[in-house]
Amino acid sequence: ASKSTFQSYKDIVQENDLVLIWISRDHIKPVVMKHGENFNTRYGTFPHTSIIGKPYGSQIATRTAKANKFGFIHVLQPTAELWTLSLPHRTQIVYTYDSSYIMNRLRLGPNSTIIEAGTGSGSLSHQLARTCGKVLTYEFHEVRCEQAKQEFKEHGLLEEDNGNLVITHRDVCNEGFKLNDRDCEASAVFLDLPAPWDAIPHLNTQGILKKNEKVSVCCFSPCFEQVDKTLKALKENGWQEIEMVEIQGKNFESRRQMVRTLDDAINILKDQKERKDAGIEKRNKMNKKILTEAAKNSKTENQTENSATTSKDETKAEVEGSGTEADKQTDATEQSPQLKKPKFNPFGKGFKVKEGDLNYNWIQVSKMESEIKSHTSYLTFASKIYDMKRETEPNDQ
Ligand code: SAM
Repeated sequence: ASKSTFQSYKDIVQENDLVLIWISRDHIKPVVMKHGENFNTRYGTFPHTSIIGKPYGSQIATRTAKANKFGFIHVLQPTAELWTLSLPHRTQIVYTYDSSYIMNRLRLGPNSTIIEAGTGSGSLSHQLARTCGKVLTYEFHEVRCEQAKQEFKEHGLLEEDNGNLVITHRDVCNEGFKLNDRDCEASAVFLDLPAPWDAIPHLNTQGILKKNEKVSVCCFSPCFEQVDKTLKALKENGWQEIEMVEIQGKNFESRRQMVRTLDDAINILKDQKERKDAGIEKRNKMNKKILTEAAKNSKTENQTENSATTSKDETKAEVEGSGTEADKQTDATEQSPQLKKPKFNPFGKGFKVKEGDLNYNWIQVSKMESEIKSHTSYLTFASKIYDMKRETEPNDQ
């Protein structure tokens, strides 16, 4: 992929670009563009050649297997937020609802150096790399660390490729954050670890946090027992302004809702009653038909068994006679339409009125998304001014 895809904008899709293909809101696929390759979806096949050379944001169409139908995709330029929605999950990830709040609370910007542990799937790392001056991220799972490093490399984020991110394979709870070649001098810390309380004391090591400047920390933990232990560790290690927050991210959609009058409400009640009555009547008639046929069958059986002397012709006539009367009744029932086609009512079943149809009145409303893509954890924030003079005083004495 082009190295700078995540860090700069470009207008036209080129070969080797990593593009994000938007199939639907819940289905975005990262694909590297190569002449001669295809992108297959259930809506049809999209040759990469039909995408290369088009402006980012284009809608691309392809004819589906069924004649005269078209499938559509949109080709988008990667951003950190879209990557969060499309990345291969190797762990639980931090979603944008949380990351946007975290970055705001940690006051991150181009002058910030942030420590992140663990890297996980690199969802937050991408957002941090876009915003911060430097990202020092740590992951103790070797395979996961390598996969993340490979992805960061492909996205042009690594410091060794003129990016701003350094990934270190390290168990920060046991070995801390110290780098071989430099001091971290972090202005912010983000810990998404099962046991952040074991990592917090390592932040006291000289060179890890910036001196004489307010440094902020955020610990991301899904359960309250973890928060409890984190609070204790933060207090014990001199962190202040401790606060716990939970994000409940929700999307609100702007929609139109049909304006309904009292008459409409009365009509729906009438309609429901009509449907109910018609249903009951139909069921009664069905039951009656079943009973009549059962009676007819049992009568035929009795006659066959008991009157051995009765001629076959007589029996047939009798059965036909009784059956004919009942059948006629039932046939008449079936022929006369029981369910009147209901008149229009805006609440009614069976009518699909397109939202915004100019034949009806609409008002603008906001609705909440039914599915919310946000695994929230508790966010524990704290801050500290790490003053070396004050910290060393007791030892000096
Ligand atoms: N924030 C990440 C994201 O947005 O993709 C997800 C982090 S994931 C939930 C937690 C990661 O921390 C895992 O990959 C795990 O291997 C790593 N981890 C757990 N304990 C660690 C430790 N002591 N040192 C370094 N990494 C650790």
